[in-house]
Amino acid sequence: MEDYVASLLTQVKAKNPAEPEFHQAVQEVMESLRVVIDRHPEFRAAKILERLVEPERTIIFRVPWQDDQGDVQVNRGFRVEMNSAIGPYKGGLRFHPSVNLSIMKFLAFEQVFKNSLTTLPMGGAKGGSDFNPKGKSDNEVMRFCQSFMTELFRHIGPDTDVPAGDIGVGGREIGYLFGQYKRLRNEFTGVLTGKGINWGGSLVRPEATGYGTVYFAAEMLATKGLTLEGKICLVSGSGNVAQYATEKLIQLGAKPVTLSDSNGYIYDEAGIDADKLAFVMELKNVRRGRIREYVERYPNAVYTETDPEADHNPLWAHKADCAFPCATQNEINGKDAANLLANGITLVTEGANMPTSLDGVEQFLEAGILYAPGKASNAGGVATSGLEMAQNSMRLNWPREEVDGRLRHIMKSIHKACIDAAEAYGLAGNYVAGANIAGFLKVANSMLDQGLV
Ligand code: NDP
Repeated sequence: MEDYVASLLTQVKAKNPAEPEFHQAVQEVMESLRVVIDRHPEFRAAKILERLVEPERTIIFRVPWQDDQGDVQVNRGFRVEMNSAIGPYKGGLRFHPSVNLSIMKFLAFEQVFKNSLTTLPMGGAKGGSDFNPKGKSDNEVMRFCQSFMTELFRHIGPDTDVPAGDIGVGGREIGYLFGQYKRLRNEFTGVLTGKGINWGGSLVRPEATGYGTVYFAAEMLATKGLTLEGKICLVSGSGNVAQYATEKLIQLGAKPVTLSDSNGYIYDEAGIDADKLAFVMELKNVRRGRIREYVERYPNAVYTETDPEADHNPLWAHKADCAFPCATQNEINGKDAANLLANGITLVTEGANMPTSLDGVEQFLEAGILYAPGKASNAGGVATSGLEMAQNSMRLNWPREEVDGRLRHIMKSIHKACIDAAEAYGLAGNYVAGANIAGFLKVANSMLDQGLV
């Protein structure tokens, strides 16, 4: 069996060269699935793993647009439709200069298992562009989004593929993308999620990833008879996920002390309270400013600029109880993981996708702390997107309490599914294995049912 998984990984690397993030995501999942393949030879016979690592469809396209100076700009657009065994493709769009095929494929691959865990009928996909929205005017962002959708619209639809937001794609971008889709198709359908509340959006969708991450952390702590009350928490990022994770932490009595962006991070020993968070939300969502401005407003906090030469991120070296990485992939490396453990961290719950490198994950698992991989703990975002799709299909809007209640229930179910799957395969307490196994089984069995497609 060693050989089967190892040779599969070798094949994936040979067939998909220069895609390190994709290799990393595949490796993490395949290592967890050894025990499943041992017990279920039918998956190996049907080459389920080989099929899972091959996207059903990969679309790469040119996105030409004109900036405010009248100059022509050209970006690259992507949509990776990874797996549709359990429902229409579903997954976010990321606009960030680092976007490339490897990042799109790792995210789409992760999305397959995450969506399966939500209990809702959604396949996995991801898309985006190397377009950088930072510093662009609203009109430039609109022109880019319109050009992007002018190609993407022919590949998506409410029963085919339903994109949402991710890094660099928030309410503003979803609005421009939706407007252009509607114009091109001449139909008003739930083709995107994360829509505005006046035009088909769901209450609690903006909050859902961050809230869900914290609900998941609360479930994990509850297994030890603990709560978040009074816990000192390190949070990275200051975008959608970080903001609402921080909001829920404050509501549950925890004390978040850090936030970051790609330029640096702030450490506020007194704690980030509701007023300070409101300042951050206005700074990031309205003025689109940098996190360093926090210390101009709250001078007792300390700002540390990112050092691109450093071998670790000092944000993770503060004394705390819990960590919530909510910025981007591989933001916790081996050294950061060691620092977190040395400082007594007892819980790491990932809001971002794959924020911990493989050696960091190994250290967390070896230390036996409560550690949740993003595909389980940040699934509340896509789950609530699934609830938005359900409301769109019914042409109804559920009240806030109903959506939030369902979100909580889904996070509880995901937590239980991880615990149960890990236990069933002799890996009790290992949320990484639990999430990968539970997510895999539903997709793999559906693929078997549907024949060789
Ligand atoms: P946003 O664009 O709203 O915020 C991203 C934050 O992370 C910003 O503070 C950004 O700083 C920082 N960041 C991004 N890239 C880097 C980088 N390379 N180095 C350092 N900091 C960086 O995105 P979201 O909050 O939506 O997404 C955050 C994470 O959560 C991502 O991993 C995403 O895939 C994941 N996620 C998001 C979901 C959602 O519903 N939005 C659902 C599930 C997962 P700066 O402004 O300087 O770029």
